[in-house]
Amino acid sequence: DAVITLDHVSKTYEGGVHALDDVSLTVERGSFLAVMGPSGSGKSTLMHCAAALDVPTSGTVLIDGRDTRSLNETKRTEMRRDLVGFVFQAYNLVPSLSVADNITLPLRLAGREADPAWVDSLVERVGLAGRVDHRPAELSGGQQQRAAIARALVTRPSVVFADEPTGALDLRTARGVLKLFREVAEDLGQTIVMVTHDPAVAAQADTVVVMADGHIVQTVTEPDAADLA
Ligand code: ADP
Ligand code: ADP
Repeated sequence: DAVITLDHVSKTYEGGVHALDDVSLTVERGSFLAVMGPSGSGKSTLMHCAAALDVPTSGTVLIDGRDTRSLNETKRTEMRRDLVGFVFQAYNLVPSLSVADNITLPLRLAGREADPAWVDSLVERVGLAGRVDHRPAELSGGQQQRAAIARALVTRPSVVFADEPTGALDLRTARGVLKLFREVAEDLGQTIVMVTHDPAVAAQADTVVVMADGHIVQTVTEPDAADLA
């Protein structure tokens, strides 16, 4: 069962840069995919197309069977709200809101009720039960990213996209946060697509695709950090 399907996807930006060149990729439901590759290889463009933040110049992107190119901007925004969660390098928590309100914000934006038992279990899973009334600035980097992970999961999206989720953390904290992210996702049957340049981080995924010059040049299953370096 594929959550995301890219079929012969190309993306050419104004100015003529071919950021993606005939990329095909399937992301299975419940799997954890990492995207690696040098700067400028097309990782962000791939993620933006796969997350319906952008549309390809040619080819097809299906999220849960829905064609992103058949939708206008408004419908694509709705689609993201329903189907997609995001984790960013810089956490992107709202400074003025409590941890609890940050985590439930996507529900409010979607006009959905927060089920308290679900929110509590999520807060518990990410180890922030004692911190829900704190502001983000009162948390460590690792805790802020764990709050951001809970926020990405709170709507039970079809897929969570993570862009260098451990890029702002020290090595030890990064390891812990990523392990937790993977375990929570596994528990919930959650699909993750993560962009990273760090082989040790990518090696946590089930599958790693390596990009170069707008192409997928390698697909590694059961990755090993040493093979990816
Ligand atoms: P990566 O995430 O691997 O660094 P990107 O997808 O950001 O790669 O970029 C791929 C190529 O597309 C690069 O040559 C980059 O300069 C170009 N590019 C990215 N975004 C834009 C844009 N909005 N307009 C024009 N060119 C872009
Ligand atoms: P983590 O491994 O989750 O990142 P740390 O080891 O960095 O946690 O933080 C240890 C403790 O210090 C945590 O309980 C955290 O709440 C507290 N702490 C870290 N940074 C801050 C801060 N800026 N303000 C208040 N407390 C903080």
